[in-house]
Amino acid sequence: MFDYLIVGAGFAGSVLAERLASQAGKTVLLVERRPHVGGNAYDFYDDAGVLVHRYGPHVFHTNSERIFRYLSAFTDWRPYEHRVLAEVDGLLLPVPINRTTVNRLYGLDLRTDAECAAFFAARAEPRAHPRTAEDAVVGRVGRDLYERLFRGYTRKQWGRDPSELDASVTARIPVRTNTDDRYFTDAFQALPKGGYTALFARLLAHPAIELRLGTDWREVKDTVPHRHVVFTGPVDEFFGHSLGALPYRSLRFAFETRPVTRALPAPAVNHPNEHAYTRVAEFTQMTGQAFGPGRERTTLAYEYPQAAGEPYYPVPCPEARALAARYRALAEATPGVTFAGRLGTYQYYNMDQVVAQALTVFERLRDA
Ligand code: FAD
Ligand code: UDP
Repeated sequence: MFDYLIVGAGFAGSVLAERLASQAGKTVLLVERRPHVGGNAYDFYDDAGVLVHRYGPHVFHTNSERIFRYLSAFTDWRPYEHRVLAEVDGLLLPVPINRTTVNRLYGLDLRTDAECAAFFAARAEPRAHPRTAEDAVVGRVGRDLYERLFRGYTRKQWGRDPSELDASVTARIPVRTNTDDRYFTDAFQALPKGGYTALFARLLAHPAIELRLGTDWREVKDTVPHRHVVFTGPVDEFFGHSLGALPYRSLRFAFETRPVTRALPAPAVNHPNEHAYTRVAEFTQMTGQAFGPGRERTTLAYEYPQAAGEPYYPVPCPEARALAARYRALAEATPGVTFAGRLGTYQYYNMDQVVAQALTVFERLRDA
């Protein structure tokens, strides 16, 4: 008899397993249908010996010292601040939009924050209550920057026009009047020194956690005795899609190894308007992994958005929000199971937000 059957060995499931085992003395069976731990943060050494992220580039960033300190018990860190360039009309422009983006794109020489703020103000079409992903950009920087940097990328990424998506999607990306070209400005920005998979191995090393890879929840739910379920897979799947299917966005990742030290002008290059892929990432620029003379190599990952396939993103739009709320009500009315994580709670969460949520869920389970 296990105290907990936890479904999914991503951040949500693994953090909950670790806390329940080490802090509450519970026994845990953790099942994961993929052949590896880490969920979408899984990384591995490819055939060329390059450490790559199997499901696209993952940069850890948080403003929460508590979350950073918690994870630091399981990994050392490599300080890393992510930078992204967008290829637009043959130019390479910093993303998020900053003063350099504007100067390069329009051949200007804006020198101060005030000058840049005035540039945006003259073009912005202010919205009292930005409702859509289009509003959130046009309201801040106007239509031309929106069309060149956001509309095409968003249409590719989500298969919908920004006017059909919640403002929160593009509000993830700030607008800057200075020349700060970092993708994130969080207080803590780093990659696990030995990689994410090694971090997960340490999270799950507790003897009260039994891990079964390549195992779907359906294979064990009726045969392995347990007191409570924590489900971090898609919430609609748990309920057999009884209220209808929630929309998810998927990606195809294409990896390419080249015999050079460095292939891209930045760790990631976004392609808002050209190509079927949205972005290309170069892992060695993120991890700092280096190969000696004569052994130069680097691996890139291209992201091709698609509708079918592994559910990577909940889709932040009004219809999905309404359906997810109905599943949440159903979840709350269902005894014996707790939902967590990006898919289990249908929230477009970053890794640190998933860890924060898992720690809160742990406290709730412990105190119940
Ligand atoms: P997941 O990692 O999805 O884990 C859920 C696990 O449950 C999966 O492994 C799945 O196989 C398993 N599962 C589902 N159903 C079942 C079942 N029935 N039986 C058994 N197992 C099951 N976040 C950042 O903070 N920074 C980034 O730079 C970043 N980049 C990203 C880039 C991409 C391309 C993507 C897709 C996401 C990115 N994220 C990033 C988000 C990050 O991946 C998630 O926040 C985090 O991995 C979610 O963890 P989770 O445990 O909720 O879900
Ligand atoms: N986005 C865009 N152009 C860019 C970068 C982002 O239009 O160059 C939009 C797009 O809709 C994307 C969203 O902003 O889905 C959030 O971007 P982020 O980089 O946070 O996406 P993620 O890393 O989660 O895929």
